[in-house]
Amino acid sequence: MADIIRLLPDHVANQIAAGEVVQRPASVVKELLENAIDAQSTDIKLIVKDGGKTLVQVVDNGMGMSDTDARLSFERHATSKIQKAEDLFNLHTKGFRGEALASIAAIAHVEMMTRTGEDEVGTHIKIEGSKIISQEVAVVPKGTSMMVKNLFFNIPARRNFLKSDQVEFRHIVDEFHRVALAHPQISFSFYNNGSDVFNLPGNDFKKRIVQIFGRKTHEKLVPVNEETNVVRISGYIQKPEFAKKSRGEQFFFANNRFIKSPYLHHAVLGAFEGLIRPGTHPGYFICLEVDPATIDINIHPTKTEVKFDDEHTLYAYLKSTIKHSLGQFNVAPSLDFDKDQNLETPYDFKDKAVSLPSISVDADFNPFEKSRAPKESGYSRQPSAKGWETMYQGLERKFPQQDIGILEMESEGINSSIFGSTADTVDTITTTFQLRKKYIISTIKSGMLIINQSRAHQRVLYEGFLRNITIKEAVSQQLLFPLTLNFTRGEISILMEIQESLSAVGFVFGDITSETVEVKGVPVVVTESEVQMVMEQLISDFQMEVAEDSFSQVDMLAKTLAKTLSVKTGEVLDQRSQIGLVNDLFACKESALSPFNKRTYTTITESDIDRKFI
Ligand code: ADP
Ligand code: MG
Repeated sequence: MADIIRLLPDHVANQIAAGEVVQRPASVVKELLENAIDAQSTDIKLIVKDGGKTLVQVVDNGMGMSDTDARLSFERHATSKIQKAEDLFNLHTKGFRGEALASIAAIAHVEMMTRTGEDEVGTHIKIEGSKIISQEVAVVPKGTSMMVKNLFFNIPARRNFLKSDQVEFRHIVDEFHRVALAHPQISFSFYNNGSDVFNLPGNDFKKRIVQIFGRKTHEKLVPVNEETNVVRISGYIQKPEFAKKSRGEQFFFANNRFIKSPYLHHAVLGAFEGLIRPGTHPGYFICLEVDPATIDINIHPTKTEVKFDDEHTLYAYLKSTIKHSLGQFNVAPSLDFDKDQNLETPYDFKDKAVSLPSISVDADFNPFEKSRAPKESGYSRQPSAKGWETMYQGLERKFPQQDIGILEMESEGINSSIFGSTADTVDTITTTFQLRKKYIISTIKSGMLIINQSRAHQRVLYEGFLRNITIKEAVSQQLLFPLTLNFTRGEISILMEIQESLSAVGFVFGDITSETVEVKGVPVVVTESEVQMVMEQLISDFQMEVAEDSFSQVDMLAKTLAKTLSVKTGEVLDQRSQIGLVNDLFACKESALSPFNKRTYTTITESDIDRKFI
């Protein structure tokens, strides 16, 4: 047989390697930013267009390249950062594989301009799909400008695989956050489609966090500091009460490199245990410094997964350090000595003149007035119980009025009178009982109906929201005082994406800035105190899962709202709410399943019961 093994031509090998290094425009951003940092730049500019699909450009003021190096830099395994295998154990640079530029040049139109400090003139290279188109002498500033255009121009399949511009932009923002946080002393600016997104002068770590995540972040941070023989731990954790529904602000850096580590994440969660509400996530910005010889960054081309020599010790140190910080903060809330007065003063107040405080009294206020009295316990879900009734106002659906009061069945000691009911069919339910704050029990002709209260309510809300969205006639309640909620830029960009659908379900927005959203109205089923929670849940769901078209966006929105706002297991429902819920469930198009395809109810027939008595 003839020999059949052949070496792949370079440009093919490069395309294959590119598959690993460049998944999406954000990967290009990461590689270019890291190269700029390795070149000892102090000022780095990132410019993107159309979610990075049309253009990603990074301009730095670093050391630049000679004309030979400029050409060599696009060769595979060409790097100035290591020379021999041992160097891998003493890395002080982000890059070392010499793969990024070769990979990028294989799948995009690349233009590089670069000049070193010693040279009078620089180099301008154009390269497309690994082919050098031109290399010329050029008069350019010191440093390097890398322009990457039309990503995946020669791999249509990969290009089609990219998500919408907004989604790709969001990935870029995430990548930018990571790099900018890891290098607070470097100035960064970031432009998207011609407008500036970030302008971050060099700073310390805490101020960089505040620059990125907004002024409000400042008061949330608790410092973490510990030095041991294996690791130096520094950074900040967010106070437990600011734990969020979304897990946006969780960052580990190892030797100034953003890393992902489920194992160390677990250590942090362990330290927060018992201090945060279930279903919420603590924020943290933690820097680990270890001896470069004890960390292996070589296990994946994107270099976010790393291996520490002694992970167990690290785990234990991290957990106890954070616990210690949390404890200290509880005892003495302001033990942070690097407080900056400028950050302490709310922005709006800095330039305001001092004015005398005045007292205004609400003359009509009567603390004993019925409607102002605190909610009676046992009616814990009153506001939204009322909510889902109002949702159907105008539809002329009457709930059977009964005045039985709260009949709650807490134990399994089932009272035989339940079965002596007059109700016969599902659509005329008049008697119900709540079992273990989880199920609603009622009788039907053939026997017994058991409804999962939470799933049933999810179905009712879900269909209600979908209806609102499709007929675009949401019932919205105006807030007396608009709420101003704080978010990060990333979160705001997600909100902007779904803003139209949110308006369709009844949210009314006022001013939206880069850090705040003014909410003027909410859907009737949402109470004021729930607004923040609902928005956080929405953001977190949309962060996790990307809605591809407007239909799935609307569907996701309705699902998230239904999940967040539904009555939960463990909530006591009064008789009217129980009956209302059951009737509403059976008025739904698909009453048997929750929006998440779980059964909402089951029946037990008389013969099932009879069999138990044999
Ligand atoms: P690596 O970063 O792993 O060395 P790259 O393909 O990213 O590999 O870059 C190849 C080489 O090109 C680098 O080792 C460096 O010498 C040079 N280089 C890349 N970008 C820059 C830059 N912005 N400024 C100066 N030199 C650069
Ligand atoms: Mg590199």
